Amino acid sequence: MVRIGILGATGAVGQRLIQLLEPHPEFDIVTLTASPASAGRSYRDAAKWRADSPIPESVTDIEVVETAPDAIPNDVDLLFSSLPSDVGAEVEPELAAAGYVVSSNSSNARMDPDVPLIIPEVNPDHVNVLEVQQDERGWDGALLKNPNCSTITMVPTLAALDEWGLESVRVATLQAVSGAGYSGVTSMEIIDNAIPHIGGEEQKMERESRKLLGSFDGAEVHLHEMDVAASCNRIPTIDGHLENVWADTRESLSPEAAAEAMADYPSAPLPSSPEPLVHTFEEPERPQPRLDRNLGNGMAVSAGGFRETDDGVQYNCLAHNTIRGAAGASVLNGELLLEEGWV
Ligand code: NAP
Repeated sequence: MVRIGILGATGAVGQRLIQLLEPHPEFDIVTLTASPASAGRSYRDAAKWRADSPIPESVTDIEVVETAPDAIPNDVDLLFSSLPSDVGAEVEPELAAAGYVVSSNSSNARMDPDVPLIIPEVNPDHVNVLEVQQDERGWDGALLKNPNCSTITMVPTLAALDEWGLESVRVATLQAVSGAGYSGVTSMEIIDNAIPHIGGEEQKMERESRKLLGSFDGAEVHLHEMDVAASCNRIPTIDGHLENVWADTRESLSPEAAAEAMADYPSAPLPSSPEPLVHTFEEPERPQPRLDRNLGNGMAVSAGGFRETDDGVQYNCLAHNTIRGAAGASVLNGELLLEEGWV
């Protein structure tokens, strides 16, 4: 078994990581970290467990430690990180320098040229950016990222369309409150409401999607040339980001061909990659967050409402933001690191 630790284990994504990793056939949870306020307490005590399954017995008595290299046992093989990005920016490089391999969900460093940003079904070859990273930074360990939850929802569907030559993408999101973490949006702000701004989210979608669909030439990742513009909205759903996408392509693309390409887009040969990766609907009113976010155990993307536009297609897509969009994405990247010999 691979000995693993979870950084930021008490948070919304940290609890999802525990849900996914505790029964995982290849990973054994040995270390849990959080802020100094939680350190020294049992996990049951430190985490206000809010996940939708009972807290696993095997983690309840683990003593939470501080998030620092000297607090984490040397024989931990792989760390999963769900720290606030400012904390991740400080601690993750220290951990990689100390020899730990880190699969991170935090938003810091995602666009750094020598940090691979990966969805294993889309750009698994970018994992080799880690060779450049270790050369340039002199690290014995490694740091790999998954993208932002709203980006992950859209990119597998775009990857399926890129054989027609993506030129321009417009996207408007309807994002669930869990994407902001437990203390992110208060009930007074969001009930009976929608908030047409999520700080930094538009820029993340616009940049990260071009890196994910870019090409790695062995030395650097060249960003995809498509032009991406996003508008992000918070709505009062709990989980599941729904997105309206307009994709313009160089070659003529019909709605039927777009749906078929998404349905046929391959999953990855990794334990957490769902089959199919993209579930397509013929019903124009699907996918919907409450009905469809748990497809493929929360790891599938779904798409529907395909229609023709002047220069391409318009469709809607959906994914579970804390599973496929966060914790599950990090787990899948951990499986890729293991498969590729980085762990
Ligand atoms: P959260 O619920 O606020 O949890 C934050 C975690 O970090 C907690 O375990 C907290 O420990 C720990 N922490 C806070 N300050 C710390 C410090 N100074 N040192 C060490 N640990 C500290 O946040 P979240 O929603 O899980 O998000 C975590 C990360 O994932 C963020 O970077 C977020 O942007 C990203 N993300 C979230 C989603 C989503 O859907 N929620 C999706 C994609 C990406 P304590 O309990 O001790 O405070």
